[in-house]
Amino acid sequence: MYDTAIIPKSYFVNVLTALAAMVEEQKDYLTKLDSEIGDSDHGVNLSIGFRDVMAKLPDLVEKDLDIPTLLSKSGMSLLSKVGGASGPLYGSLFRKMAIPVPGKNEVTFAEFCAMIKSGVDEIKRLGKAQIGDKTMVDALSPAVDALYSGMEQGLPPVEVLEGAVKAAEAGRDSVIGIVAKKGRAMRLGERAIGHIDPGTASSCMFLQIFLDEFKKLA
Ligand code: ADP
Ligand code: MG
Repeated sequence: MYDTAIIPKSYFVNVLTALAAMVEEQKDYLTKLDSEIGDSDHGVNLSIGFRDVMAKLPDLVEKDLDIPTLLSKSGMSLLSKVGGASGPLYGSLFRKMAIPVPGKNEVTFAEFCAMIKSGVDEIKRLGKAQIGDKTMVDALSPAVDALYSGMEQGLPPVEVLEGAVKAAEAGRDSVIGIVAKKGRAMRLGERAIGHIDPGTASSCMFLQIFLDEFKKLA
């Protein structure tokens, strides 16, 4: 089942477009979260990055680039235009999503899961955050685990993705009540307790878009 569900390149174009729209919509909320335990720029950072992604996307589509090139070039926008921790981390997510699918213009669901895992692994490698450090890894890492356990259980792809979103949200909520051990919020010590980590919030939103756009394929 996971080797036949074909995800076309247009899915990834639609995901990038929807992410950019979501970021504009959620910019103030994400920045408000970052004002509580960071430096009030998370929404602004993502907005700067995704505006650059959108500025370049028509040209990438016009050139009919393959999926990995589309994603890695979009990742470069986030990496090079965004200050702060999240730009390089999210930029690397998209760049490394490209790795498992060289040259492809459509991917299977299993490949899609491998892409997400590859991207999240890179975020873990770069940021060196563990589960419980109160970073985006607390949302993203359980989401990847859920993708693979969902496939092991043989769930339909939509349900596999729904499981990943739920796992990310549970991860986000699980670190509200603890101190941060990575990122700016670390410096706040106990004052970070009771606040949502902005990166966990945006990661949940990203995964929700992956799911929403996937549902539109059917
Ligand atoms: P900055 O913290 O540099 O201002 P942003 O505000 O855009 O950057 O992003 C903050 C988010 O980045 C945090 O909420 C956290 O989820 C994530 N983050 C920070 N450091 C790390 C890290 N080492 N590993 C993973 N995620 C991190
Ligand atoms: Mg910040």
